[in-house]
Amino acid sequence: MPTNTAAPIDNALSWQENALCAQTGPEFFFPDPGSSTREAKRLCGACEGREACLEYALTHDERFGVWGGLSEKERYQLKRGRG
Ligand code: SF4
Repeated sequence: MPTNTAAPIDNALSWQENALCAQTGPEFFFPDPGSSTREAKRLCGACEGREACLEYALTHDERFGVWGGLSEKERYQLKRGRG
């Protein structure tokens, strides 16, 4: 029997296939402290995977950079509001 050697699709990360940030550069999403996150957020606003991305970041406690349109500070505030 042939063996399926393809990597299994991880549904938890499937949104990354359409991630707009994958087509730009990490500098947008991990800006230097104090610099603007506006461009990254604008891109997130047009990204298909925004909700899944945000949930992923909240679940995995991602501390740095913009995820799902929110900065680390905004995610922290959202989490506090949920808890
Ligand atoms: S929502 Fe933003 S950070 Fe998340 S995958 Fe889309 S572009 Fe990237």
